[in-house]
Amino acid sequence: MKETKYGLNREVFGRVTQCRTGHGFIGEYYKRFVPDENVDCPCGEALQTREHVLCDYPIYEPHRDILRGASENLEMLELLGTKDGIEALTEFIQKSGAFTKTGKPLHPPQPPNYQPLDETALMLNDEYWEDLTGGSERDVVTQGEVVDDELGDFG
Ligand SMILES: [Zn+2]
Repeated sequence: MKETKYGLNREVFGRVTQCRTGHGFIGEYYKRFVPDENVDCPCGEALQTREHVLCDYPIYEPHRDILRGASENLEMLELLGTKDGIEALTEFIQKSGAFTKTGKPLHPPQPPNYQPLDETALMLNDEYWEDLTGGSERDVVTQGEVVDDELGDFG
């Protein structure tokens, strides 16, 4: 059983519909209705058409076998107008992120989001030293000794 038949959210169905009607985040549509938007494709194609996104845009090639499963030669009429084609189209759109505003999947895996404390930046900050020393001048020589000690560990 293909996962595409069930459990799809409305957002993906929306993109499928936009693709079938030609109303979506593609240059072809912008050219007609949103003149301020770029109409070219990130790959360099001058006008990003629906057919280009489905059949040619290199970024989506890893997902294109999904479409070929329904239409060996990627015939637009088959992909957009038959049950198998639309099922394949749905899976392709879901996995590739095609026809989103960014052209990428909406929820890609994210790296852990944390910001380690940058102690080097703190040590270069005068206010940090004033806090530590109660406002007296910092001892530059001491800093140099610390660095020397660290280097010594590696020698
Ligand atoms: Zn392209």
